[in-house]
Amino acid sequence: MDFNLTREQQELVSLLEKVGREKLRPGALDRRFKPDETPKQNIKLLADLGIFGLCMPASVGGSEQPYINGILAIEKITEACPITGQYALMCIGGPAMFVAKWGTEDQKQKFLPAAIAGDEYWSISLTEPIAGTDLSALRTRATISGSRCLINGHKIFCSHASTNHRFLVFVRFAEGAGGIGAVLISKDTPGFTISAPHRHMSGEPWCELFFDNAEISVDDILFDGNAFGRLLSTYSLERCAGAVTTLAASRIAFDLAVEHAKERKQFGRPIADFQMTQARLADMYMRYESARLLLYRAVAEGDESPNARLNTSAAFVAATEAAAYVCEQAMNIFGGSGMSQDLPIEWLYRLAREHWAAGGTSDIHRSMIAADILGVHFNHRLPSQQY
Ligand SMILES: Cc1cc2nc3c(=O)[nH]c(=O)nc-3n(C[C@H](O)[C@H](O)[C@H](O)COP(=O)(O)OP(=O)(O)OC[C@H]3O[C@@H](n4cnc5c(N)ncnc54)[C@H](O)[C@@H]3O)c2cc1C
Repeated sequence: MDFNLTREQQELVSLLEKVGREKLRPGALDRRFKPDETPKQNIKLLADLGIFGLCMPASVGGSEQPYINGILAIEKITEACPITGQYALMCIGGPAMFVAKWGTEDQKQKFLPAAIAGDEYWSISLTEPIAGTDLSALRTRATISGSRCLINGHKIFCSHASTNHRFLVFVRFAEGAGGIGAVLISKDTPGFTISAPHRHMSGEPWCELFFDNAEISVDDILFDGNAFGRLLSTYSLERCAGAVTTLAASRIAFDLAVEHAKERKQFGRPIADFQMTQARLADMYMRYESARLLLYRAVAEGDESPNARLNTSAAFVAATEAAAYVCEQAMNIFGGSGMSQDLPIEWLYRLAREHWAAGGTSDIHRSMIAADILGVHFNHRLPSQQY
């Protein structure tokens, strides 16, 4: 077992720490007041450094590095600027990764170069009004007719849809869990409309997607059914990438709290002198570091490991809950000013807290973890509602 980074990883991390310090961090935390503004300059800078092509196939200009390198990049970018980190997630760990892994060569050539160049951003859309945790109940329907495919349905909670260009959408080609597949849709597709943005609690925008006979070519179908298992296993790695952004953003709160504990004086001495502050910092550090290790292991082992579901769910829950814990304790260390919107700590808390449900709630992940520990399959559906 080797916990050291390879030379390639060390170079990547040092490069991104330098870029983060010099280019991404200035003004980064003020971006919380402009949640609809895409950090285009940062995205272009990272694209020019080849960061979005890190884990992409060589045939489209990528450098085919292991996915863990992409995770390290997302982590470092987010530690400098959480909002830029969301875009790094979408380009490195998000829907583009599904195309890289499962797409035909034509699909890779059509969709990936613009993502690698930072010219097009992707959203993923699974959730529907009636299909949240119970994703297999989704109703958005895809019907193939000759060389065309018609999509009809309604999606919700699609993060950043208002600013993004391409969408990986989970759809149903036939009844039952076996009928679920996925299509690749562009913003300008006739019959496809995107609502005005709603807000998650951090201010992050999400939209509803409406498909009214939205027409795509059959060439843009990623899976025409029988793909639920494969889609979910790749999605589990995407969830880990999402959890990395949450945890990395909490690192900012941790660092600010350490600085504040050393500087803020009460009773004539720094609050870091008080054992309650010390214990708080120690607990924050332990929760943060243990979640980080779980995440690294889940990603390094990958989605084809026999323990992939157990490892990714455990890492996801540990990371999102640790991030919320770290930010909440950081707010406490800041006292009243930690609760004030003048400082970024409460925003980092809201960012971490909302990710409890993004990528599946902690409840359903705990249920999956328990199922794997016990070696059983929990059937959540009523007998009358089985597929
Ligand atoms: C910040 C954020 C970003 C998101 N981004 C996206 C996105 O980009 N694309 C997208 O498609 N979706 C996105 N989502 C949606 C997210 O995937 C869903 O919110 C999540 O899957 C839960 O579904 P739901 O909200 O319908 O809750 P429900 O499924 O209605 O759950 C309600 C409650 O019931 C519990 N529950 C339900 N079933 C079970 C069960 N079997 N066992 C135990 N407890 C259960 C849940 O844990 C929860 O406490 C995002 C959500 C958030 C908060």
